[in-house]
Formats: sequence, C-alpha cells, structure tokens
Amino acid sequence: MSETRHRPDWTPLRLPAADHSFFLAGGPELATTDPTTGETVAVLATSTPADVEELVGRARHAFRTARWRNDGAIRARVLFRYAEALRADVDRLATLLTREQGKTIGEARNEVLSSAEMVEFYAGMARTLYGRSIALGDHAHGVVLREPIGVVGIITPWNWPLVLLVRALAPALAAGNACVVKPASLTPAVTVEALAPLAADPDLPDGILGCAVGSGGVTGDALVGHPDVHMIAFTGETGTGVGVMKRAADDLRKVSLELGGKSPNIVFADARMDKAVEGALNAVFTTTGQICTAGSRLLVEESVREEFVGRLAERTRALRLGDPLDPSTQIGPVVSRGQQREVNDYIELGRKEGDILAAASLPDDLPEGAFVAPTLVGGLARDSRLVQEEIFGPVLTVQGFADEDEAVALAEDTEFGLAAGIWTTDLDRAWRVGRAVSAGTVWINTYHHFYGEAEVGGFKKSGLGRQQGVEGIAEFTETKHLNFDSSPTLW
Ligand code: NDP
Repeated sequence: MSETRHRPDWTPLRLPAADHSFFLAGGPELATTDPTTGETVAVLATSTPADVEELVGRARHAFRTARWRNDGAIRARVLFRYAEALRADVDRLATLLTREQGKTIGEARNEVLSSAEMVEFYAGMARTLYGRSIALGDHAHGVVLREPIGVVGIITPWNWPLVLLVRALAPALAAGNACVVKPASLTPAVTVEALAPLAADPDLPDGILGCAVGSGGVTGDALVGHPDVHMIAFTGETGTGVGVMKRAADDLRKVSLELGGKSPNIVFADARMDKAVEGALNAVFTTTGQICTAGSRLLVEESVREEFVGRLAERTRALRLGDPLDPSTQIGPVVSRGQQREVNDYIELGRKEGDILAAASLPDDLPEGAFVAPTLVGGLARDSRLVQEEIFGPVLTVQGFADEDEAVALAEDTEFGLAAGIWTTDLDRAWRVGRAVSAGTVWINTYHHFYGEAEVGGFKKSGLGRQQGVEGIAEFTETKHLNFDSSPTLW
C-alpha cells in the first residue's frame, strides 16, 4: 500500500530498546505484521526460559525486599503517573495498536484512554485496601488483612492488548504484588511500548515489573510452570486456559481465567427497534467481531424477526470496511491471515448448513489485507458449529424464539457464560431474563459498556474469578487473620 494521508511510511520498531531493562530477551527474533498491508510493524527479540527465570527471580527478590508491598501511597503515585503517561502518549500508542492489531484508530484511541482510566481506578484503590478488626473475646482480638500474593504472571491475548493487560496489571500492582507480563505474540510491540513509562517510573522498584515476549508454548509455559510464580492471571481461549490451570495445579498455584464466549443478544418484540438494531451491530462487530463478549448469537422474537433482520441486514451491507488508520473506516481487518482463513471457513460452513442473510460489500479500493465481510447467517440447527463455537470474527448467527421461555432456553444452550444482551421495554421481563441467564455481565438496552468499577468474568467455560471492580483487586490478594491474645500475663 503506498503512502496516504492516513498512512505515512513506517519504519519497523526494534525492541527491546536500550532503555527497556524490564524486557529481557536473549532468544530468536519475532516480527509482527500489519494485518492491513502485510508490512512489518516491529521486530522483537524473544525471551528464553532462562530470561523468564531471571525475571521471576528479580520479581521475587523485589517483592520480598522492597517497600512496595507495604506502602500504598507509593503504589498509588506510581499508578496515577502511569495513567497520565498513557494519556499523554495516546496518539503514538493508538497508531501502533492499529498497525499491529488492525482495529480502527477510533477504537484504538478509546482502548488507550480506557486503559488509563482503569489504571487510575486501581491507583485510588492502592490506598483503600482496608482490612477488618474483630473483638473475639475479653482478651482475644482479630485483625483480618488483605496481603499481596507475591509474583503474578500475566498472560494476555491480542484483541484488546492494552485494556486486558492493565485490568490485571493495575490491580495486581495496586495490591502490592510484583508482575511478569507475557503478551500475545501478535501484539507484543504495543504492549512493551505501553509498559515502558511504568517501568521507567523512579519510584517503581527494580524487578517489580518484568516482561517476557515469545510463544505461548515456550515463554508462556516457562512462566506458568515456574514454582515462584504464585498466581497466573490468564486471558485467552478456553482450551489454553484449561491447560494453564492444569499446569498450575501441580503446585496448587492460584489462577484467574478470563476465557472465551458465545454471548446471546436477545431482542423482544416490545424493544425499541432502532436502538436494538444499532445495539446488535455494536454487540457483534466491535473489533471486527474479535471481542470475547461479542453478542454473536442474535435471538429475536418471531413476531418481529423479519422486520428486525431486514433492518439489520441493511445496516450490515452498508458497513464501511477499509484502512483502520482512516478515521471514517468502521470495520478494519481481522488480526492475521490465519484468523481470516478460520473465519472465512466458518462463513463457508454457514453457507452450506444455513442461509447467508446479508454480507457487507468489500469496496474496490480495499487494501490487500486480512479483511472479512461482516456476515449474518440464519437457518442453522441449534447444534451447528456456527451457533456453538466462538468464531472470533464478524459473523452473527440469527435464531428466532416464540416466547420468553424459549428465549432463555436458547440463550442457555451454550457451554459459555461471559455476557448477554436483552432488549425490551418491559422492566419485569428484563429483570427475570437477566437473572435467568448464566453470564458474568448482562447488558439491558445497551451493550459493550465497561466500567472500572464493575466486575467482569465468566460463568461456565468462560472463566474463573472476576476482574475489574472491588473483586478485581481482591483476586490479587490473600486474606490473613492476625490473632492476638492480650491477657495481662502475656505482655
Ligand atoms: P490464546 O489462548 O491463543 O492466547 C492467549 C495468550 O496465551 C497468548 O499470550 C498466548 O501466547 C498464550 N499462550 C498460548 N499457549 C500457552 C501456553 N501453553 N502456556 C501459556 N501461555 C500460552 O488466545 P488468543 O490470543 O487467540 O485470544 C483470543 C481468545 O481470548 C478468545 O477465545 C477470546 O474470547 C479470549 N478473550 C477472553 C476475554 C475475557 O475477558 N474473557 C477477553 C479477550 C479475549 P501466543 O500469542 O504466543 O500464542
């Protein structure tokens, strides 16, 4: 692709840079690729198991010896400064994110700014991790404390590489832990660049933050298998998460797992149709469908099905695909050629097993990248792979239901339980269905709104534990009871 107004020529980054001492990498090089153009975005050295060993050793030492774990004020200051540094660098980081991941530049900016907000939320909590005191008898006193766990390994996926990083990293650090991060191999450069200002903070003790880049099977496995990594915070596919949990089980180390989804988005006949159509588009096509909470199963009440799907099809066909660095683009490429092939295979299967109800048109001037046309598929059996498996691309399956009971039954017909959407003007029904659906987040007359204050996480095969909110910091702590006998004969 030749240079355009939105896409100035690019010189690949070479990492680690000389001042990136938190990123140890003595292994072979890894190059990342812009999914829009095929250009090289960055060339990074990878971290060997010996590098992981060294990073974990440094983290363990820093955790044991530095003031960090006992000084919430320092942790708050460091994290507040980090939030500001992310904000100040939004243009550069967002551009790098779009080049490495393929998401639209508007979404990339939003991701950087949301990350800053998340860090700020936990910066505040660094000073409010209160315990309790309990009067247990005449001379018996209890103090219950929240203490950091130790060294936390954080493993992230490529779809929202910054938000999903900081929603584990910020609470883990705020609680006083040391962290070693292993980013996804498709998006390591933006991760390293986003970590750099935190690592450079003069009040962050050496070793409290480390980063290891490399494949999941080698670098990730070295981190997960290390006995001095006391907890793994993993975000990624369910199958990978199960493997991580099994590996950590040998030493009974703690895991928090944020995994896949196949979320139902349920539209009742009484819903405000305009809002529900826009909501359904946003639910499934955000990040070109590569979002764990994607509302990728549309369930629509039969009496409005034809009208609703007709309107949705019209809006889908009109979606603007293009260069994600162009601010007018609505849908960028998927993350890689491999992902493009996988998603297109699902669309082909949908064509065989059901009906293609609509597909966005690919403009003539579309770059030669990993683009996939957003597609609606109907007429599928309940056990079709398209209905049951996480596609992680811009594909929406459409199913009809006759009444509320059937809506809930279809919504529940999945092994996942990450999120759900409900569109209705009946408050009683919203409450009933919201309670009946097994999902960590249920959006009612909205979709994809996230808040640092509110927990997220999965029921069923979508995960274990919660991130964000108050529970999100509690995950990175152990509870300790200090029990005092104050009998006069003892003091
Ligand atoms: P993967 O499970 O393939 O990879 C996630 C991370 O795990 C990557 O850093 C990967 O490294 C690493 N990894 C892979 N194998 C191992 C291993 N054996 N040991 C340790 N680490 C390993 O997921 P994707 O990156 O493909 O991300 C997409 C998935 O993430 C989807 O299923 C999506 O639903 C889920 N997700 C869940 C979220 C949630 O909040 N519930 C949020 C966002 C995404 P490498 O990149 O080198 O392979």
